[in-house]
Amino acid sequence: MKIYNTMNNHKEEFNPISNDKINMYVCGPTVYNYFHIGNARPFLFFDVVRRYFEYCGKKVTYVQNITDIDDKIIDQAIKEKSSFQEISERYTKAFYEDLQALNIRKADHNPRATEFINEMIELIRDLINNGYAYESNGDVYFKVEAFEGYGKLSGKNLEDLKAGARIETNNQKSNPADFTLWKKAKEGEPKWDSPWGAGRPGWHTECVVMSRKLLGGTFDIHGGGVDLIFPHHENEIAQAEAINGIRLANYWMHNGFLNINGDKMSKSLNNFFTTRDILKKYDADVIRFFFLSKHYRSPIDFNEDIIIESKTALNRFYEALGHIQILSLSDTKKDYDATLSGFIDGFKQAMEDDFNTAKAISILFDITREIWSDQNDTQKKQQAGLLLVELGQVLGFFSDLEKKLSSNVDQYAELLIQLFIEHRIQAKKDKNYSLADKIRQDLNAIGIELQDTASGTSWKVKK
Ligand code: AMP
Ligand code: ZN
Repeated sequence: MKIYNTMNNHKEEFNPISNDKINMYVCGPTVYNYFHIGNARPFLFFDVVRRYFEYCGKKVTYVQNITDIDDKIIDQAIKEKSSFQEISERYTKAFYEDLQALNIRKADHNPRATEFINEMIELIRDLINNGYAYESNGDVYFKVEAFEGYGKLSGKNLEDLKAGARIETNNQKSNPADFTLWKKAKEGEPKWDSPWGAGRPGWHTECVVMSRKLLGGTFDIHGGGVDLIFPHHENEIAQAEAINGIRLANYWMHNGFLNINGDKMSKSLNNFFTTRDILKKYDADVIRFFFLSKHYRSPIDFNEDIIIESKTALNRFYEALGHIQILSLSDTKKDYDATLSGFIDGFKQAMEDDFNTAKAISILFDITREIWSDQNDTQKKQQAGLLLVELGQVLGFFSDLEKKLSSNVDQYAELLIQLFIEHRIQAKKDKNYSLADKIRQDLNAIGIELQDTASGTSWKVKK
């Protein structure tokens, strides 16, 4: 298997530390808001990485932290006139709900930063004692010059970093490129006692402590979005490797961005859609198809036309499965012939080439074609259906097959509803509100409920 390792900037043979066990750590959310559909990309992709390893018979230990103390959480608490605990509680809960709605399995461990403050203080103390960090007026900084490998993940060099950081007016640092390990609390901020006074740990320290605690020394895979390469992952490496003297992780995997009109979707640019809102409009499998039909390292543009195409493409799977009445096959034994086994090989080859999910999806279409082929071999078609479900589930599709197949709204009915929604939008634009209301009421009368959200109008069948 080959994985693109950001550390060396090329695809490398994947050699896990232990043959039958894989340890992976993926940076989780900062819980101050609902996560947006860009954030969903790493959560969803690494879910597939985990599922694939498990499909290959490996035991995976998957750790994903929750950053539950951070400047952004504190700001949000001030904005909402509540405590930082309330904010982080609320959005941690929402994080799990949204993962579930996307059919992303929960990690084996979801450590929260605030549960490990003592360990973080210990790590910072060890770094100071070993000459890698210094206290300055209640803050503690990591001395980047003391760690020889600084910049090895991001390819940045210290001189450039120093020059770049100089504009910063923090004269408490001895080198402008030094980064914060411990932050002195300002008036009214949440704080913990430490040898350097009351304050809180920096974000880069959290992941080092939590990964070390739950995965031990070196682990196999560390993941996240490309924006985490620098400074976050670079700074994790500096702390962990300075203290442990061994690698933090062997493979560094980073997903590309979900962009919108050419910009990274982000909360700070305010150009985002929450996963919650998107899920009101599109099924979880559609979102999954949209992401997985591109390679995880390529940037993707958030484009509703492509999402709608994903929906149409995905429907071909459901139609094929409906055609062979897959639900009635629960007791059918899997017995794949050479053609079908060949598809499994193709699927694995794609996944083992740095998780080429787009290629893997094309194999699912090859299998679908087998189902529709005009040969009259029912048994072969059924076997193809079973294989489609088996491999589709490795990519996280078909989680509630039963519900979907039994409530599969006819494609034309769906197009018609969409058409009514468009006419209603036009009626509103024309200020013809009585027509807009009539469309809503008439649809309602036949059991279709419209919901207007920030990202458009969605519909559902009334319960
Ligand atoms: P955050 O809560 O901002 O730390 O982000 C959580 C995860 O989402 C990190 O792995 C980020 O790298 C990733 N991420 C943030 N924005 C995007 C985006 N627009 N596209 C893809 N990944 C993103
Ligand atoms: Zn992290």
